[in-house]
Amino acid sequence: MLKALRRWRERRVLRSAALPDALWNEACEALPFLAIYDSAERARLRDLVVLFLDAKSIVGAQGHEVTPLQRTIIAIQACVLVLNLDLSLFDGFENVVVYPGEFVPGWEYEDDYGVVHRQDDPLAGEAMHLGPVVLSWPDVEASADWDAAQMNLVIHEFAHKIDMADGDANGSPPMADDARSGWQRVMRAAYDDFAARVGAGEETEIDPYAAEAPGEFFAVLSEVFFAEPTLLRDEYPDVYRAFAQFYRQDPAARVR
Ligand SMILES: [Zn+2]
Repeated sequence: MLKALRRWRERRVLRSAALPDALWNEACEALPFLAIYDSAERARLRDLVVLFLDAKSIVGAQGHEVTPLQRTIIAIQACVLVLNLDLSLFDGFENVVVYPGEFVPGWEYEDDYGVVHRQDDPLAGEAMHLGPVVLSWPDVEASADWDAAQMNLVIHEFAHKIDMADGDANGSPPMADDARSGWQRVMRAAYDDFAARVGAGEETEIDPYAAEAPGEFFAVLSEVFFAEPTLLRDEYPDVYRAFAQFYRQDPAARVR
């Protein structure tokens, strides 16, 4: 019943809201990693983007004005993650906040000894549990060119959101019970290996930040999976296969 209601609502949004062709094309051209998708997939992605933009508000902070192109570029990269999954993975939050640069979140946390720390380091992005996704626009813009930036900020933060859809950002996103033990085995082995490489001082092609925690490993490797898929397939083929199953996409097979 709820599903039927959702479909009805989605059809209504798709009938009434549209994305101008020029805006859509300009946004796609800004994201070279979309080249692997055929016209049917792009049409599906475009519908998801329309629904995403209808459901979320993407707002500027600290004087940053979000342009229609910026809004579309952010939405496309979020929706690529769920192209063959379900937009409901992004339920439970409404806002995407865009800053004109890195920002200091200023939140506090308590450590195991009960000492309260303040997070004072500037961040490029943040995904809060049941809260907004926060992005620095210059870092989103830089992400379009993987070769220069070696990162994709939007994919990273929205991968955290998918991970959080069933609780903590622990690197174990929602999936069928029979798939979970295989996922955890593959991810743990790869994480241990990567953390050991980083710990030994190796210069890795994958961002060493992935060694911070299993949740970061999932988010960083999701960036690589979509934006530089052959790198993940070459470095961690088991993880690549697990991601291909989870996201229901095989981007490395389609890279020319
Ligand atoms: Zn992260």
